[in-house]
Amino acid sequence: MSVRVVARIRPLLEKELDKDVIVRADSAEEGKPLTIVKIPSPKNEAEEFSFTFNSVYDQSTTQEELFTAEVAPHMKALFQGLDVTLFAYGVTGTGKTHTMRGGLKLAERGVIPRLLSNVFRRAKKITKDTGGDTTVKVALAYYEIYNDKVFDLMEPPEKRTPSGLPLREKDGKTIVVGLSERSCEDLKDFERLYIEANNNRVTASTKLNAHSSRSHAILRVKVTQTTGDMIRESTASAIDLAGSEDNRRTDNGKERLVESAAINKSLFVLGQCIEAISRGDRRIPYRESKMTRILSLGQNNGITVMILNLAPMRSYHLDTLSSLNVSSRAKRIEVREIENEVVYKQAPRTNSGLGAAAIRQPLRP
Ligand code: ADP
Ligand code: MG
Repeated sequence: MSVRVVARIRPLLEKELDKDVIVRADSAEEGKPLTIVKIPSPKNEAEEFSFTFNSVYDQSTTQEELFTAEVAPHMKALFQGLDVTLFAYGVTGTGKTHTMRGGLKLAERGVIPRLLSNVFRRAKKITKDTGGDTTVKVALAYYEIYNDKVFDLMEPPEKRTPSGLPLREKDGKTIVVGLSERSCEDLKDFERLYIEANNNRVTASTKLNAHSSRSHAILRVKVTQTTGDMIRESTASAIDLAGSEDNRRTDNGKERLVESAAINKSLFVLGQCIEAISRGDRRIPYRESKMTRILSLGQNNGITVMILNLAPMRSYHLDTLSSLNVSSRAKRIEVREIENEVVYKQAPRTNSGLGAAAIRQPLRP
């Protein structure tokens, strides 16, 4: 299976209503679903470029519609042991954080709180349906990559070491060494942890951004299902990437330029990885940035959905075009859909005489 790549065009905000709209969604044929993004050529206004995606969501798409179409279908797979990765890519101001985190009002909630809500609902159902034989535990890790350094967002900023946390490969996966994990009982619990962690996030304002758009924020939801001595673990990762804009256009101060260089680099490497994979290269330059090591696009098992966020205004023209170019290539990335293996706890010392085979059936919700 390939990486699923979808585009979401945000509406104009109230203060933008007089702006020139140049990005539009289209379908391949009259009456067919939206799969094409059209944008004029910057050199010749009469010429139009088309980019095809697995799906395109226009300005009328609600948070609920996006979740139902792009995330909910993978939740069953998550509980069957597949890892699910969702990431938002795009220029600052295009709706990445709105898509992933969203607003506080119920209807405005983004992918992340909806995902957690879905996980807790499934967990409850599994426990009920199995008469309590299967228990489900949910644990959260939340961190950011800033200047190619990894910082735990569950810890207060004063506990950070300047060099950040190291990465290590384990069983073919990249793990962050020393990252804290918080167990999470319900949606209330999640919201408390999530708000607290977001407050810990570095906020440095530049000309283009008001939020922490210069770091990648990665939320990892670990789901552990235990039945007897059988443990199945899978993770859902939701990633709000740094803005993909060309930072040379923002006339920043010196410090900001160092930052931009590192952030540009990881997104540049991401683009190179996508390019290399889509060309079928043997060598993929994953290891050249921490973000791409963690993302391991095309190397990880499971399901990956890339959401390209777009703002429709002319003022974003060149950056929009470059993000369309990067993400339309990502469709060709293959992801192996392999379930995580079930692991067994140490057999209990008092042997009950129950045949192991009777217990060791694969977990199916
Ligand atoms: P990014 O994280 O990519 O920098 P934001 O998510 O902060 O962008 O979005 C920029 C602004 O646009 C915010 O005010 C956000 O509330 C608004 N916005 C983004 N997407 C939508 C949408 N689909 N519907 C309504 N408002 C949106
Ligand atoms: Mg943002």
